Amino acid sequence: MKKSDITRKIINSICMVLCTFTLAMLITFWVDGDEASKEVPSPLPTPEATQEIAQNGFTIVIDAGHGGKDCGAVSPGGTIESALNLEVAKELEQILTKTGFKIIMTRTDENALGSTKSEDMKKRKEIMNTPHVDAVVSVHMNKFSDSSVSGPMVFYMQGSEAGQKLAECAIESICTRLERPTRSANPGDYFVIRESEAPAIIVECGFLSNSEDERLLLTKEHRLCLAEGIADGVSKFFS
Ligand SMILES: [Zn+2]
Repeated sequence: MKKSDITRKIINSICMVLCTFTLAMLITFWVDGDEASKEVPSPLPTPEATQEIAQNGFTIVIDAGHGGKDCGAVSPGGTIESALNLEVAKELEQILTKTGFKIIMTRTDENALGSTKSEDMKKRKEIMNTPHVDAVVSVHMNKFSDSSVSGPMVFYMQGSEAGQKLAECAIESICTRLERPTRSANPGDYFVIRESEAPAIIVECGFLSNSEDERLLLTKEHRLCLAEGIADGVSKFFS
C-alpha cells in the first residue's frame, strides 16, 4: 500500500468518526428538545380542589317540620305544609353549605322520623342535640283563622337571649329579602325551640290561609328568597 493511500484511509476514518459524532450529537439535541417541549408544568389545582369550601366551624341543624302522615297545615286549596317545609329546608341547606356551615338535616324526604308523632319528635330532639350543634332552624308554614294575615314570622324560646338574637337576625334578613316591612321576632314555647340546647328558631315562612302567601310559597323563586333571607340571618348571627 502506498503512503498516500494510507494517509487517505486515515483521513477517511477520521471523517467517519467526526460524522458519526456530529450525527449522534444532533440526535441527542433533537430528542432533548422534543422532551423539553413535552415538559408539563406542575399540576394546576383540580376543579374539585378550587371549589372546596372552607368550613367556618359552625354546625346548623335544619329541621323541615312535619312529614309522613303529619302533613302540618293545609291550605283551603289543599296545599300541604310538610312538602313546602322540605323545599325551603333543602334550599337553605344548599346556601348555608356554600357559605361554609356544616349542616345536619332532620329529614331529607317526605317521610316522618318515626311511626308515631312522639317517636318522630323524640328523634328530632336527638338530632337537634347532637354534640357541637351551634343553632337549630325549624322551617314551617303558618295558618290562621283570619285569612287576611300574611307574611313570615320567626319564633324563639321565650327567655332565651341567644334564641332571640338569632330570631331577630333571621326575621330582619327575611323581610329585607322579601322587601317587606321588618317585623319583630316572637317569643313562644314550642317543642323544637324548648327542647334544643343550642339557640333555636321556628321560621314560619308565610300563611297557607292567605291566598297571596300560598301563591308565592308555591313558586321556587319565593322559596329561594326565603331561604336566602334565613341564611343571611344565620350568617349575621355568627359573624
Ligand atoms: Zn308546622
